[in-house]
Amino acid sequence: MKPYTFRFRTGEIIIDHLKCAKCNSYACIKADSLFGTGVLRIQDAKPTLTTNLEDAQRLCNECMACELYCQSHGNKGLKIKLDQFSS
Ligand code: SF4
Repeated sequence: MKPYTFRFRTGEIIIDHLKCAKCNSYACIKADSLFGTGVLRIQDAKPTLTTNLEDAQRLCNECMACELYCQSHGNKGLKIKLDQFSS
């Protein structure tokens, strides 16, 4: 299955929904509601955007909490790729 991806201003979020299917915490959603701007929601048991791809780039506040929470409390399905570290 192709990863679910979307861009924010300085990078890209990559979500492996196969890993999300075995996640019990949805820590990414909790992190987004605590520190982010509500760009993520659960739809069909998977984290997806609440908005379209273009608006997501503007709305995301780049707090990076979704990745930190996913990696520490979730099933490690979400990664952030920052443009400045890509070649
Ligand atoms: S916390 Fe990670 S593994 Fe769990 S639903 Fe969110 S992105 Fe997927």
